[in-house]
Amino acid sequence: MTPSPEPNRVETYSLNITPSIGVALFPDKEQSASEALQQADTAMYRAKAEGRNCIRFFLPVMQMLANERLAVEQDLRWALDQEKLQLHYQPQVDGSGALVGAEALLRCPDQQGEFNRIDLCIEVAETTGLIIPIGEWVLWKACRQLVAWQEEGGADRLSHLCINISPRQFLQRDFVSLVQRVVAETGVDPRLLVLEITEGTLIDAKRDAIETMKALRGLGIRVAIDDFGTGYSSLAYLTRLPLDILKIDRSFVSGVNSSPKNAAVAEALMVMARQLQLNLVAEGVETREELEFLLARECDCFQGFYFSRPQPAERFRELIHGGLG
Ligand code: C2E
Ligand code: MG
Ligand code: MG
Repeated sequence: MTPSPEPNRVETYSLNITPSIGVALFPDKEQSASEALQQADTAMYRAKAEGRNCIRFFLPVMQMLANERLAVEQDLRWALDQEKLQLHYQPQVDGSGALVGAEALLRCPDQQGEFNRIDLCIEVAETTGLIIPIGEWVLWKACRQLVAWQEEGGADRLSHLCINISPRQFLQRDFVSLVQRVVAETGVDPRLLVLEITEGTLIDAKRDAIETMKALRGLGIRVAIDDFGTGYSSLAYLTRLPLDILKIDRSFVSGVNSSPKNAAVAEALMVMARQLQLNLVAEGVETREELEFLLARECDCFQGFYFSRPQPAERFRELIHGGLG
């Protein structure tokens, strides 16, 4: 880490300017001047990403990662433009194993039809700003799909559809009016919608997030905290925020039977949610043993590969009519 520089005084302000430096070594085999500059640039962005005010040397792996992100960005733009994005739906079941809801999960194919890693897609979409049009597409698509299933009949048991909302999208000034428009134009029942946000959203801009949560509640929409327990936010917000649902992260659910530590955390989270009158969804249930542990502690709702992986809309429609089997 480079030492902090002396502050510069500009009128009454004291300004700290810190450098982020990228270094590329040359000449290398057949390396052109512009390649060397590009590599230094890539290393400089790594320095910025690692907290700024530091020096990073170019490594070939950085180029690989940068290329991968660029390819994903191009796929996202192409898929958005050509309407190739998809939503898959992962079933959620109640204590009796009946299908009661779903989580809509984005899938972005590349031009050969293979799906890109969705966590990387979301990260790239966040950093490039593409998450705004993509998130809007997700909202319209999920609501239209829910209305279509209901109009066909047989979907009355679905009490909710969960939609992931990224921090950047949730904190957009016009997010609530977008949601209002989607609800009005699709005719979806807002009481069936659950918008999932992460603890990060609350850390970044707590006051704005609370206003948005209140406005959504006013529309009849529920808000869930996704991946609960993995962020760094304070537990105090649970008592103050207009929250409806906690989704316990898979990292606590997996191995509740084999790891006493995981079991203790999962149990404490469930007791807390009950006391605060929040609904609880357990994510990532993979085994019968995990399910039994959660059932014994009166968890409300379950999601995980034990029941079903996320499914394309057409397959999920069959599950609505035929059950999980
Ligand atoms: P998430 O919202 O926590 O979604 C649950 C993830 O856990 C999904 O991964 C799902 O496939 C996976 N999962 C569910 N059950 C199990 C299980 O039993 N075992 C294991 N190993 N995994 C399980 P997926 O679809 O890869 O999505 C990853 C993340 O990408 C999501 O995590 C969410 O944060 C983000 N994401 C997906 N779709 C969207 C979207 O439309 N908008 C935004 N902003 N983020 C999205
Ligand atoms: Mg989620
Ligand atoms: Mg989650």
